[in-house]
Amino acid sequence: MVTDVVVIGGGPAGMSSALAASKTGAKVALVERDDVLGGILNQCIHNGFGLHFFHEELTGPEFAHRFRKMVEKDKNISVLTSTLVTKIEENAVHVMGKNGVQTINAKAVVLAMGCRERTAGNISLCGTRPAGIMTAGVAQKMVNIEGKMVGKDVVILGSGDIGLIMARRLTLEGAKVHAVFEINNTSSGLRRNIMQCLEDFDIPLQYNTTIFEVVGKDRVEGVFYGKVDEHFNPIESTRKFLKCDTVILSVGLVPEMYIAPDATICKKTGGAIVNEFYQTNLPWLFSCGNILHVHDLVDNVAIEAEQAGKFAGLFAQNALPPHGNVLGVEAGEGVSYVLPYSLFEGQGKVNFKLRLKEKVVRKTLVAKCGANVLGKKFILAGVPGQMMDFEIEKNGATGKIVVEVE
Ligand SMILES: Cc1cc2nc3c(=O)[nH]c(=O)nc-3n(C[C@H](O)[C@H](O)[C@H](O)COP(=O)(O)OP(=O)(O)OC[C@H]3O[C@@H](n4cnc5c(N)ncnc54)[C@H](O)[C@@H]3O)c2cc1C
Repeated sequence: MVTDVVVIGGGPAGMSSALAASKTGAKVALVERDDVLGGILNQCIHNGFGLHFFHEELTGPEFAHRFRKMVEKDKNISVLTSTLVTKIEENAVHVMGKNGVQTINAKAVVLAMGCRERTAGNISLCGTRPAGIMTAGVAQKMVNIEGKMVGKDVVILGSGDIGLIMARRLTLEGAKVHAVFEINNTSSGLRRNIMQCLEDFDIPLQYNTTIFEVVGKDRVEGVFYGKVDEHFNPIESTRKFLKCDTVILSVGLVPEMYIAPDATICKKTGGAIVNEFYQTNLPWLFSCGNILHVHDLVDNVAIEAEQAGKFAGLFAQNALPPHGNVLGVEAGEGVSYVLPYSLFEGQGKVNFKLRLKEKVVRKTLVAKCGANVLGKKFILAGVPGQMMDFEIEKNGATGKIVVEVE
């Protein structure tokens, strides 16, 4: 197969970037390992999607369906489902699917493969490994897609959005969710999810708390849990036992970057380092969505992926806009990371995506190039779990831009 752009992953990032690449006139192959497009959205049957992109509150499957319809109508896009990308190289994407092993020749590749969840092994969870320990996304798939209940007495470790949503979902399905334990002093989940998924159902969220040990032989029988000190070490004097049959883990997501070992990775996000065009250090390789950095809202994924798809389409047709010298972007005081990691010198607006290092109240985000202030944004209240937008004007800046909290 020969095409201009291969987009790997048929979630919201993949579909949005495929559509944008097609709009530039490029021929696109959209490759998805699952048998249907939609990605993680297919199992997110709750609402809360699409408010920014479609100006409507949709469920995950509804949001995915709208994109799927647009992709199906687009004559420039060939969709390959039940097809796994096994290896990528310049000009060649190797896949395995219904027709066996195949190579797709393409001028540009967009990574849109999302994330995988961190497991008990990833966080070195102490204790035994009986049945009943699973990640929140797996529990969500079992309950929402396969119609299987995962347990009756549940403890959730980690207060990421998936864990919060599963606390509500399992409660609605008749389980007793005894507690959500969060090792940090703030949640990485959205405030609205804490209110709607925990507080509305009287599910306690205990900060600075973790599971010390899982107990059980064939099935989980309970957990020892307690407080941690500022270095996350267990405070043994606070150790208590809680009887439960299920432990759900919502302890972070890891971008699926194993497929692109030559791309330079950002230590903070685990995703590739990209420039203003969402282009990695390999000029033919672009990245967007959760594989680039973990997003809290799918709308932001779709908007970012449009950019990556557009520039991948233009690159494949040797039509990238003319651009000036590289302008570095650095995360300064109070900022964990800022994306894109570099711009091109020139004029125009740029929308940074960033996360804060810690909770802030009534502070100002500032982008500076030397003494020159390029943009400011007041933050009434911000937490590290929330992704922030920050629009600035490049205004002929040279050298390096630093984004920091003042
Ligand atoms: C439980 C949960 C609840 C959420 N709730 C909300 C919410 O209420 N509101 C909101 O706006 N957002 C929510 N989000 C966030 C939003 O769903 C994600 O940010 C978004 O789905 C990420 O899109 P993506 O396309 O990058 O990744 P994904 O949706 O994960 O898609 C990646 C796709 O790539 C495919 N893939 C991976 N590797 C390969 C390979 N080698 N070959 C071929 N295909 C491959 C996967 O099968 C998958 O389909 C939620 C997310 C989760 C997990």
